[in-house]
Amino acid sequence: MANVLAGATNHFEFNELPNSRIILSEECYRRLSADINLCAFSGTKELEYGTFLYGKEIKPNVIYFDMPSKYDDYEPSFREFEVNIDKNGNELLMHKELMSKIEDNKYNCIAHIHTHPYIGGTCRFFSNQDLRTIQTLQRDFQPENGEKKYFFGGLLTVGPENVHETDEISFVFYDENNGWYKITNINVFLNNQEIPFFKVDTKPKMRLG
Ligand SMILES: [Zn+2]
Repeated sequence: MANVLAGATNHFEFNELPNSRIILSEECYRRLSADINLCAFSGTKELEYGTFLYGKEIKPNVIYFDMPSKYDDYEPSFREFEVNIDKNGNELLMHKELMSKIEDNKYNCIAHIHTHPYIGGTCRFFSNQDLRTIQTLQRDFQPENGEKKYFFGGLLTVGPENVHETDEISFVFYDENNGWYKITNINVFLNNQEIPFFKVDTKPKMRLG
């Protein structure tokens, strides 16, 4: 079991999902780069940003994420990435898109991915609420036709130095039978080849190496 901290879990202590690999399309990579830059440099530098990524398992435990959300009509908030409804209670386009992609046979893997600004403490880990969100998606957001969707959690964190080199990218997966796993083999498909994220102490940084 991972070490459970106050309100957060050190996901780097999860076991690696066996033989796993995540491959991001260039479009997904650009969207995640934009999200972490917004988090690191805009406004108070304390707000959270994010997206969904839609993809397919191309080999056992190898996921190719093809496209990010087309929309970003959510309100960035402090310690929260909330994409269900706007302040008037209307469903966001980003959420409508998620619900339609769950029913879309083209994709069987969906990542819920968001940023954490650097605010000290456990800010570089998933909050326990973040992990509960992924569990809820996995358990309760399944298509009508019974074809299973697999949900992944993604986290982009700004480093204390607030320089691009120390931004981190993480993925976790919740297996309903075996619990939590991490996936640290993360790559971008660029110019017809897979380029891995640069790692420091097994932690992938938000730069290609
Ligand atoms: Zn979070």
